[in-house]
Parts: sequence; structure tokens; C-alpha cells
Amino acid sequence: MQNLKDFTYQELEEFLTKMGEPRFRAKQIFSWLGRGVTSFDEMTNLSKALREKLEQISFISRAEIAQKYCSKLDQTRKYLLKLEDGNMVECVAMYYKHGITVCISCQVGCRMGCKFCASTIGGKVRDLTAGEMLDEVLTVQHDVGERISNIVMMGIGEPLDNFDNVIKFLKNVGHPDGLNIGYRHISLSTCGLVDRITKLAELNLPITLSVSLHAPTDEVRSRIMPVNQKYPVDTLIEACKKYIEKTNRRISFEYAIIDHVNDSEEMAHILAKKIKPLLCHVNLIPVNHVEENDFQKPSKERLKQFMAVLESQGINVTVRRELGSDIAASCGQLRRAQEQKSKG
Ligand code: SAH
Repeated sequence: MQNLKDFTYQELEEFLTKMGEPRFRAKQIFSWLGRGVTSFDEMTNLSKALREKLEQISFISRAEIAQKYCSKLDQTRKYLLKLEDGNMVECVAMYYKHGITVCISCQVGCRMGCKFCASTIGGKVRDLTAGEMLDEVLTVQHDVGERISNIVMMGIGEPLDNFDNVIKFLKNVGHPDGLNIGYRHISLSTCGLVDRITKLAELNLPITLSVSLHAPTDEVRSRIMPVNQKYPVDTLIEACKKYIEKTNRRISFEYAIIDHVNDSEEMAHILAKKIKPLLCHVNLIPVNHVEENDFQKPSKERLKQFMAVLESQGINVTVRRELGSDIAASCGQLRRAQEQKSKG
């Protein structure tokens, strides 16, 4: 059965024209989907006959809230969502002055194997479809009762490992007849799949690209990120340079800072030297402790020292503000806890 939310606007038009319907039906249905309807009966401007016909050949997917955690420290809400087939993914709603941002997942699990990350422990189960990613946004928006203004693709999964569905999702979520969340309000984070960064550059979308660098040398990066064996640091930085040239957009380098792994002054100097020529920003994320490994956050002094080196080299650097730190740290941990529970 066809999930109507997996169609682009254009594909929906084609689908409906093939059924003998006029083109404007696509506009009507697309906007119903964007408003989060869950049944054909709610599409009140369609005839009963058409609704019945659609029901026989298609469906409207939805994501169900399996668990929800509300932070007592700030307004952050973290969700474990159940997809149609019972698989679980996580997303988070974060309140900022400029609006509500939702962090979404793009795969069930992940196959990238980063050593500090909870999402990858059980490997990848499957990719999410474009419609399922939209469901995450719709479900969170419905729950918070306010418009979502920004999206970050920093939940479970590697967006560039699910390239086509992610691009389709970005297109759909930005459509004026749908949620109308444009590229400029979207960030996408990658562990550094160089060939896909190049492919993304060709599309020239005004999204913000975040690159999970986490270490400036192959020796350290390969130790914590297996992807580095395929795409080494310098190759990655070169691809970022080309990306910036092509899109004129600043890249944000994510740096999960880990005590005595990648937090030395020497590392900071090497990092500064390598990225100094680029239009970029560094976002330091004190590593969240995951039960299955023993990576720890550095002390405040070491973090400060690392930052000071970058700043002295003229690099723009921030430390990620921790939101919802009382409701289970980084993505992947809720799903992981749920899996462990169901295994008994
Ligand atoms: N696969 C994508 C996006 C998912 S994770 C990527 O790798 O970029 C979003 C960010 O959180 C990435 O920078 C990731 O490396 C980081 N991250 C994962 N586990 C973490 C942890 N335990 N502590 C801090 N950051 C973590």
C-alpha cells in the first residue's frame, strides 16, 4: 500500500491524474496531510467516492507517542515514537527564543559505528521514508500545540546514508502548501560521507550543514569514528571547502569533546590550523556519557583551555547549551533502553 506522505507534491499530482482526478486535488490532499489528518474522512472537501477510492489503494501513516519525557529544567520534551511497523525512533522538541526546533531521526538505528554514540550500538534496522520523517515533525507539533519553526536532522541515523528520502523530506516539509519550513530553517548533520557531501553541494540547498568532525587527526578520528577509514580527515575537510565554495554557506563543525581522547591543546592547535581557511564555526559538545562505553566529559578547565586555543586562532567557537539534561542525554539512549527492556 502506498503511503500518501511518501509522495512529493509532483508525484501526488501524477498519482491523482492517473486516477482521473483534476490537478487541484493534489493541493487539497497535500495540505490536509500537512495539517496532520490521520484519516481520509477528515478530508472534507473531497467527495465520499474519492475518499473511498483512496482508502483502497493508499494510507496515511502516523507516528504514535510511545513515551514522552518533559524536562523540569527547561521546556525540552523528548519523545520515543512508534512507527507503523512497531520500530521506534526518537525526537526532541527544544524551545528557543526564535521558536520551537525539533530534532528528528532519519533511520531506525545507524550503521556508522561511532564509538561514543548510543544510536549505532545495535546497527541499522532500516531507513525511514520521507513520510515517516514528516510524521515525526507532525506528531511533535501536535503535541506541543505550537508551530515548529526549525528542524535539525541530528537524531538517530546518518542522513546522508538515506540520501534520497532525506532530500524528498526536505522538499516536502518546505512546500508552501505543507508545513512550509524552508531550507534556511533546517540543519543536517553528517558523520562525513564525502561522496554524499559532494552530491549535496550540487543540489545547492540553503540548509545548514553540520559536519561531525570530532578529531583533527586520522589517528584519533579513526579510533572513535570508523567512517574515517574510508574518508580521512583531510579528504573530508577538502570536501567541506568545496561545499562552502559551491553553496556560499558556513559549515558548522561538531566536536564531541572527550576527556583525554580529543581534548588536548595539541589537538586544538591542529584543528585550528586545518579549518582556519574555511568559512566555518565550531560547536563543542561535551560528550554525553553512554552506558556502553567509558567516554567522559573533560573537566571545565580542559574545555576552557581547548576553546581558548581555538579562539586565539580566530576560530568562531561555541559550547552546545545543554537542554533537557535531566531527561536522558543524547539521541539513541531512549530507544536503546526500550530495546533492552523488551529483551527482558
Ligand atoms: N549521523 C549524524 C547525525 C546524528 S548525531 C552525524 O554523525 O552527524 C548528532 C550529533 O551528536 C553528531 O555530531 C554526533 O557525533 C553527536 N553525538 C553522538 N553521540 C554523542 C554523545 N554520546 N555525546 C555527544 N555527542 C554525541
